[in-house]
Order: sequence, then structure tokens, then C-alpha cells
Amino acid sequence: MSDRETLEVDVLIVGAGPAGLACALHLGEQARWRASPKLSILVIEKGAGIGAHTLSGAVLDPLALDELVPSWRQHGAPVRQPVTSTELLFLTDRKATKVPHCLVPEYLNNRGNYVVSVCELVRWLAEQAKERGVEILEGVAGSEVLSRGTTVLGVRCADSGLSKDGQPKPNFQPGADIRAKVTVLAEGSHGSLARQFRALHDLDTGRLPQTYSLGLKELWELPPGVFPAGKIVHTFGFPLQKLQALRRTQCFGGGFLYGLDGTHVAAGLVVGLDYVAPRLDPHAEFNRWKSHPYVRALLEKGTLVEHGAKALAEGGYYAMPRLYACGCCMVGDSAGFVNVARGKGIHLAMKSGMLAAEAIAAALARNDCGLKALGSYEDLFQMSWARSELYSVRNWRAGFAQGVSRGVAHDLCQRFSESGGKVFSRDPLPLKAPSQTLARRAALWPVPLPPGKSETLPALSKETAVFHSGTQAEEDQPCHLKVQDLQICVQRCAPEFGQPCQYCCPAGVYEWQQDSGLGPALHLNPSNCLHCKACDIKDPYGNILWTVPEGGGGPRYQRM
Ligand code: SF4
Repeated sequence: MSDRETLEVDVLIVGAGPAGLACALHLGEQARWRASPKLSILVIEKGAGIGAHTLSGAVLDPLALDELVPSWRQHGAPVRQPVTSTELLFLTDRKATKVPHCLVPEYLNNRGNYVVSVCELVRWLAEQAKERGVEILEGVAGSEVLSRGTTVLGVRCADSGLSKDGQPKPNFQPGADIRAKVTVLAEGSHGSLARQFRALHDLDTGRLPQTYSLGLKELWELPPGVFPAGKIVHTFGFPLQKLQALRRTQCFGGGFLYGLDGTHVAAGLVVGLDYVAPRLDPHAEFNRWKSHPYVRALLEKGTLVEHGAKALAEGGYYAMPRLYACGCCMVGDSAGFVNVARGKGIHLAMKSGMLAAEAIAAALARNDCGLKALGSYEDLFQMSWARSELYSVRNWRAGFAQGVSRGVAHDLCQRFSESGGKVFSRDPLPLKAPSQTLARRAALWPVPLPPGKSETLPALSKETAVFHSGTQAEEDQPCHLKVQDLQICVQRCAPEFGQPCQYCCPAGVYEWQQDSGLGPALHLNPSNCLHCKACDIKDPYGNILWTVPEGGGGPRYQRM
């Protein structure tokens, strides 16, 4: 077995999304301004290429980009399509009713924003970062936080070339230990390193539990003139808030359509993972949304290009952890930098990366990357526009956690009260983790609904959806989905919840075979995994642990 390599850098950034790359790029700039000797800045990315695991709505508020690269328009940034119109539609089973403009909340106003492909945006950011001396390694996954006492020392990368049973194959390569003065975790929502880091340093003490939604998104190619470039449509009502006899099938969420250019539209559904009904299947709900006459009339003229899924951290300001520890900072979705009311997070993710970069540059200049020095990141955040934006909607998502109608009532109170995010005397409003919201009584488990009826738009199977995500992974490797105690699944989860993992996973990774002869048997298809983390987030027993597979596996998004 070969020895584990050790690399030493000044700053290690885990994740090449908008937050991680903004941090790297801004650090390069900071080093230049401070006339510091050249900093070694390394970014590692678990996807096969930059953007392969990056998925977002995506409507970009250019606020942070203006600060990060003021000349982005002259430097060919792939931010070309301004938003030209915004509509909010209420969907019933068969109809779509436009909400009058005067009733559309101000936070859905997209004047001055752009419809972008976030994959293209991060590829451009990566080029800008490289020009400033940043090194980027693709296909390298961080699997473990290295620490001594309370000090983070770096990250151990995932081994590659292990067989299913953990034995080294001829191509075995032990993952390197990357040691850094400062490690920045920018893995996206519910990252596995961020989870270790938060637990190790008690970063969630005094915070509300984080809540999440699952975003399912597709890119469709349409004939010219069907859906104008720059047009934005948001929908609510059908299917997630449809009034049914079993009202508990209702949950937070809604759909969107974004015109990327004259011939491509991003279509998606966001499903709150704090739903109650264990058999709710977000993928099936997405199929039903696409079968609505309004959506179907658009999509049946086109061709599906790409499909993807991702968890979105939505708890807001009160669910954000402490952002730093000795030798480490957390940025972007990993730390909950998402304004769910606006449905936007890219600008906040980038801003968090920039603020962390400023704190890190100052700490490195003083040769002190301890707790107090990196604490200036949190101070900078508290003084920034990012904090003002997040604080103003601090109870928005918690309002919807108590039911959709209450959420709407809270939203109206928040919008028209002078106290912004405060609702009456309760501030903060309570919030539950999605793992704690499932109904235990079988009477509340609705029978899964068939996909929506459509003669011209067949429901997409989970297998076909995975195919359209470009997902590829080495089959002969240890399973990265650690089901820690199968007896819990069989003896507790089955009678209490009916094994909800098989419904919530949008990729069909969990298959329960009831007639195996030896009782229920779990068959896993880990190579189909879209890395959305929904199974880990929703599991009521904390029995499923999502860990990183070999670097380079998973989805290969091109234009999401
Ligand atoms: Fe998402 Fe888990 Fe399914 Fe992978 S196995 S696609 S992380 S729900």
C-alpha cells in the first residue's frame, strides 16, 4: 500500500462553487493589496470538473459580483441575460391564475438581476481565480477534517481504488492529507465535512435547527419564441399546496421557469423537506407539476437536456452556525447563506466567501489564525449588507414550517409590520429539523399519487432522470451511503414511517425488497446518487450517513 502524501498550503478551500471560488479569488486580490508574499491557495472540488456538481435556480443578483470583479462585463462573465419580466402564478389542477402585480411581494422583484447558468458562472470564476495564482484540483473529495484539539489543521482526501469490500485494487491511491493554516469549507448544503466541523466545535449551540428543501431542476430546449429570454415565472398551489382530503400532504415549495436565452428554459420545483407525509415523493411531485396544463403546454414543445437535484439550506439567519473556529471558516450554503424568501443564494454565497477572505488575509498577515483572529469574519458579516438582507427575512421560512396558510399569514404580517422579520411577539419563530417532522400514524400516510396525467409529456422515471444528470461513478467502491443499523430500518422505521428513504430519494437509490424470503431487504444503487443529501437530511433516526465517494463521481452538470 503506498504512503499517504502530505501537502502544505496557506489556505485550503473545499468546494469550487460560487462561495469557495469567490473566497479564492478575493484572497488572491487581498494578497496583492496587502503586498503579502505570495499566498499558496488551493481549491479542491469533488466533481469531475468545475461546475459538475453546481446546481442552482439560477437568478443572479449581481451585488456581490460587482464587488468581487467590478469589471466583469468587460471580462466576458457569462452573465448576459437580464431579467425582462416576472410573473407569479397560482396553479389549481387545471388553471393558472396570474397574481396581480400589486400583490406580488417586493422580494420577488427581479429588476436588475440576471438569468444565468451557474455552471458557466463558476467555470468563469475559476478562470479568474487561476489568473490570480489560485491552484484548483478537480475530482478530489475531502473526506475528513484533520484537527488537533480544537484547531483545524486541514483535510484528508478520499482514497481511490478501493473495492466494494474496502480492499485496495491495483489502482489504489490513498487520499492526500492537505494541511493548511486556514481551511475554508465551501461544500454546499449539508456538506459532510461541515457536519463533522459543526459537531466537533459545537457551532450550532444556541441556533435553530437548519431546515432544507429539495430543489429539482431541468434544462429544456424549446423552439424560438415559446418562452422569452429573461422571463421569470414562479408558481405556487398545485401540486404541493393542493387541498386534498389528507391535508398533511401539503408542504412548502413551488415551481419556477427561467428563460435562459431564446431557446432554453430552466424548469424546477422546490419541495420543503420538512414535509409530514412519509410517502411524499418529490420526484413524483415534480412530474405532476410538469403535467400541469400551463407547464405542459411549454415543455411538450421541447426536449429535455439536463436534470439535477440539490438540497437547499433554508433556515435563514437564526439557523446559521457560528461561522468559524480555530483554523477554519465556513462559507456559502454550508453555513446557510440563502435568502429563501427571494429564492436566491449565489450573491450571499459569494459575499460570504469575500468576507472570509478578508478575515483570513488579515489573520495570515499577523501570522495568527486562531479563534479570535478568524472571528473577525463573523464581525465583518454582522456589519455587511448580507446580514441586513438575511436578518430582514429571519422568520420567513419558519412561518411556513407551521403550515402553508400560516406561512402566508406570517409573510403578510412580516411584510406590513414595521419590525421586518418579527411576527407579533415571537422572534425567533420555532423551526424543526426535517428529520423531526414525519407523521408516525399510518393513517396520515397518503397513498403515493400517480404521476400527473398527460398524453404528450410522459412522466420521467427516476432512472431516466439520473441518465439526464450525466451521473457516472465507479461501481466497485465502498458504498458511500452508510446505513448504520439495518435493524433500525426494519424494526422501527418500517412500522413507524414505512421507510421514507425510498420515496424521498430522487434517484431511486433505496429499494426495499419485501419478498426476499428473509424479510425486508435493502438494495442500494449508490452509483445513481445525485449528491443531493435528502436521504441523510430526512432520515428520522439519523441512521443514514452520506459520505463522499471517490472524487470525480456523481453528476456531471454542464449548463445547470
Ligand atoms: Fe440524494 Fe441520498 Fe438519493 Fe443520493 S441517495 S440522490 S444523496 S437522496
